[in-house]
Amino acid sequence: MSNTPVITRFAPSPTGHLHIGGARTALLCWAFAKRNGGRFLLRVEDTDQQRSSESSTKGILEDLAWLGIAWEDGPELEFDGKRFGGDERGVGPYFQSERLGHYNAAIEKLIESGHAYPAFETPDELEAKRKEAIDAKVGYKYDRAALELSSEERAERLARGDEHVVRFKMPDTAITVKDQILGDVTLEPEEFDDFIIRKRDGFPTYHLAVTVDDAMMGVTHVLRGQEHLINTPRHVAIQRALGFDEPTYAHMPLIFNPDGSKMSKRDKDKAAKKACKDEGLTSSPVSSLSDADFAEWLKNKTKQLESSTLVELARVVGVDLPEIDVEDFRRAGYLPGTLNNYLALLGWNPKAKNEDGTDLERFSMDYLADHYGFEGMGKGQAKFDRVKLLAFSADDIAALSDDEFATRWREWASAYDTEIVDRFDEATMRVLAPAIKTRCKTLKDARGVIGFAFVGDQGFEFEGKAVHKALIKGEAKGLELLKDYREALSSLADFAPDAIEAHVKEFCESREVGMGKLAQPLRVAVTGDAVSPPLGVTLGVLGKDSVLARIDRCVEHCASQV
Ligand code: GLU
Repeated sequence: MSNTPVITRFAPSPTGHLHIGGARTALLCWAFAKRNGGRFLLRVEDTDQQRSSESSTKGILEDLAWLGIAWEDGPELEFDGKRFGGDERGVGPYFQSERLGHYNAAIEKLIESGHAYPAFETPDELEAKRKEAIDAKVGYKYDRAALELSSEERAERLARGDEHVVRFKMPDTAITVKDQILGDVTLEPEEFDDFIIRKRDGFPTYHLAVTVDDAMMGVTHVLRGQEHLINTPRHVAIQRALGFDEPTYAHMPLIFNPDGSKMSKRDKDKAAKKACKDEGLTSSPVSSLSDADFAEWLKNKTKQLESSTLVELARVVGVDLPEIDVEDFRRAGYLPGTLNNYLALLGWNPKAKNEDGTDLERFSMDYLADHYGFEGMGKGQAKFDRVKLLAFSADDIAALSDDEFATRWREWASAYDTEIVDRFDEATMRVLAPAIKTRCKTLKDARGVIGFAFVGDQGFEFEGKAVHKALIKGEAKGLELLKDYREALSSLADFAPDAIEAHVKEFCESREVGMGKLAQPLRVAVTGDAVSPPLGVTLGVLGKDSVLARIDRCVEHCASQV
């Protein structure tokens, strides 16, 4: 490697949420820079004025910050008490919409040197030519008609202000990209035409802007998804025409679902449509979507709903959407470390062993930053295995300390399930932590473990088998013990989990019965079922009034059963 410091970049277009594939690109760009003592740069590619939005930019930056993929150069952001971005090297701004002067200067230079030319065809004229080619069953390629114009005519039309695009004149020789993952990839001149570098609206196209920016920002290594491989020879051609250094390229495998389909945002709509059809819905279940639009969406396979509408609809219909964007995984209660670890494995194999000889799969961001390199990158498809990610998540959550779990859970609930923070204060969540963290696979699951606390005292069913086994069956009836204990409990002053456990124990000893004899009837009485967090915690979070009311209701229920 030369002495030039390694600089990698992630260059999202802010037209939606950060897709999981984008997050993997950002993560591995970050890791490559760290491994080589370099810098990681973030650039916002917002030249598509129509589709770009500030809220999307904000969402993408925050998702990256949440993942802990920190950029040195780029838009500034303060997140969770940490600062990201800056312009230490003075190569900003980092929003392409603020860099038009640079692109225009490059375009002028290309025109002057004969590498680019204005073309005046209207979109309709081009469309007609494209149709002609299709009808004649030959591949369409721009015919360079604008190059036939005499220089006088061209000058005259420009002076007149005729609308035009600027096209790059592709060389008539093959271009070989030396890809670090795929090896040499050669594309023949027939595969390209003179593509547009400045649109009619005066904005540069992606190809021009990305090439100018990578050069001006000193980017040494471009890692991106394989969907961009087809673009790279164009970028190389522009670099050569402008005398820029060529960065090193590495194109990563695309991410697919286990069934071989591409993992895309459309999967979410697909799942929601299926749920609506299964329910037989004929009108829109949410106010933000009209019945007509709902019907159209349901019918048309390619139609997608706006993200917030989709989330709302899924909630109302009660369907879990497949997670596709980083935001989805956040909402689903994954920890950032788990997600990063799993994402790194989508394409990369650390080729290292655990002490027991098995393949190393679980590692931290620090490990990734110390070991990541192109050597371990696969060429083929990367499959997104949700079962495996969930298993990683369950392990990581169980491994958190109780306090850490409580903190993470509270943070998560504050953002995605505020009922939990309204219902439990910080201390209670800490008390619940040890019982919950081993029973859930994601932070979201925690709600299920303590679901009994979110229903009213009259609002849950008693599970028939559990009632029979714990309260009705057998000689020393659980029900009798429960009734007696209710009296003792009503005078218990300290209703903290430990005090409750001690009280139950003492009561059982005085009756010379095992703790389970009372614990199970109590559990069934207050939750409706035989499984719950430890007894003291279960009763403690409900509070005494609620526990007594639930016992009374259970006693009545049992009376109606015999
Ligand atoms: N803005 C492009 C995208 O989001 C960047 C592609 C690249 O990395 O060059 O796909």
